[in-house]
Amino acid sequence: MTVRKKDEGVLLVVSGPSGAGKGTICNALRQLHPEIRYSISVTTRPQRVGEVDGVNYFFTTEENFRKMLAEDAFLEYAEVYTNLYGTPRKQVLDMVKDGQTVLLEIDIQGAMQVKKKFPSGIFIYVVPPSLQELSHRLYARDTDTQEVIQARLNKVTDELALAHKYDYIVVNDKLDEAVDKVRAIMVAERCKLSRNQEQINHIFDRYIIKEVL
Ligand code: ADP
Ligand code: 5GP
Repeated sequence: MTVRKKDEGVLLVVSGPSGAGKGTICNALRQLHPEIRYSISVTTRPQRVGEVDGVNYFFTTEENFRKMLAEDAFLEYAEVYTNLYGTPRKQVLDMVKDGQTVLLEIDIQGAMQVKKKFPSGIFIYVVPPSLQELSHRLYARDTDTQEVIQARLNKVTDELALAHKYDYIVVNDKLDEAVDKVRAIMVAERCKLSRNQEQINHIFDRYIIKEVL
């Protein structure tokens, strides 16, 4: 039996201001598409109540994080509000090479690093419908101090200026519609001709053999 080479999968990078709804959208998408592979980030941030090590994040010390950084273990990393976050490089690239759809939900600094290292990734920018709504969501989420929320809101104008570097923009007003849009982007990207060369060759081979027979 000949082993067919696999087409490369899709690296979907969902990014945007904190509180825009990236996590909520990605969770909903993963419910709809259990085949999506999700990259679990490494972070030095303290574990929140309800979070599980190895599920939400790999929680680690700053010393260990810096050691991993020196070993080039991250596809990207960023310091977000005094904490370090990084995406494990090998695990993510191996899954994409294996033809999987891999979802990264990371901040904007990280997304820009991935874009440099992996330009064939698909970069989706999630924005809230307004600054007021973003502020409301961050307070309602109730996971951060007022100081942290204010720091997040202060960054938004600068962050929005980077929107043009992305492939797609999704306004997260009604959640269902935003999830539908991200899902549509994923499905369309999976169908791109450039990502299906091996499959096309395989199908054409079968046609040719049929004709000869
Ligand atoms: P992010 O991952 O971008 O920081 P979250 O997914 O944690 O943002 O969303 C921030 C808060 O806003 C959460 O409390 C979430 O339940 C809420 N939220 C997300 N999307 C919507 C939406 N479309 N409408 C109303 N609330 C939303
Ligand atoms: P939180 O501490 O609320 O879980 O996440 C804070 C921010 O860090 C969010 O914007 C989240 O998307 C981002 N983040 C989570 N993991 C990573 C990562 O591996 N790399 C980068 N650059 N950002 C991350």
